[in-house]
Amino acid sequence: MLKIKNLHASVEDKEILKGINLEINAGEVHAIMGPNGSGKSTLANVVAGKEEYEQTSGEIIFENQEISELEADERAHKGLFLSFQYPVEIPGVSVTNFMKTAINENRKAQGLEDMPAKDMLKKIREKSELLDMDRKFLSRSLNEGFSGGEKKRNEIFQMAMLEPKLAILDETDSGLDIDALRIVSNGVNKLRTKDNAVLVITHYQRLLDYIVPDYVHVLLEGKIVKSGGKELAYKLEEHGYDWIKEEMKAV
Ligand code: ADP
Ligand code: MG
Ligand code: MG
Repeated sequence: MLKIKNLHASVEDKEILKGINLEINAGEVHAIMGPNGSGKSTLANVVAGKEEYEQTSGEIIFENQEISELEADERAHKGLFLSFQYPVEIPGVSVTNFMKTAINENRKAQGLEDMPAKDMLKKIREKSELLDMDRKFLSRSLNEGFSGGEKKRNEIFQMAMLEPKLAILDETDSGLDIDALRIVSNGVNKLRTKDNAVLVITHYQRLLDYIVPDYVHVLLEGKIVKSGGKELAYKLEEHGYDWIKEEMKAV
């Protein structure tokens, strides 16, 4: 599904990513862990195609297509979803109406007509029920006065509605509170299928107790220096990152 080859990227002319290789197949959950400043968010943003992040070399192949030259919205329309950014507040636009617009823009990009209102309502009902969402929540203004948990619930709802092939979830350094953690992990687990994939980016092991990854990768100073199964996350939680740095020096 996603193949990243020798990816280098800079932010404000400073090289942050120094040769990333990563392959994610349908049905898999991958986690990227690493200390603060190692380049985790940069990786998420480069893959999503955010403008401030400059890919200087390497390849990003998504569904057999090289997407490096595509704009962020074009990548989104291909089924790439990046969440846990700083959510924008849009007063006067409800959670539902924002979602309708997003779905129809997506369809337009694929040359499809607007989704019939009846189908849209059905989909909204199905997905909000799946995620145990309160109906009142759907008519609230987007992110206005939302708690941390509500912001996450809205993001997971967007993910449920858009049904991305690959969802990249970049947990902020401050981490999720227990409420948000439960909402996010229940949602992600319910939305998993054999045809989609999830890349969870986290500073903490905690989230991975709930969303169990198939593969864990350690990002240090712009490179993936170690990959393993979920047990690697526990080892990092217990021993931190220093032992990996020592291992690297020894080679
Ligand atoms: P992580 O998510 O692992 O904490 P980041 O990718 O956020 O790491 O940051 C890696 C490095 O890139 C840091 O040195 C950070 O200061 C720099 N950086 C990231 N984003 C920006 C930005 N928008 N502007 C300037 N520097 C940035
Ligand atoms: Mg950071
Ligand atoms: Mg980050």
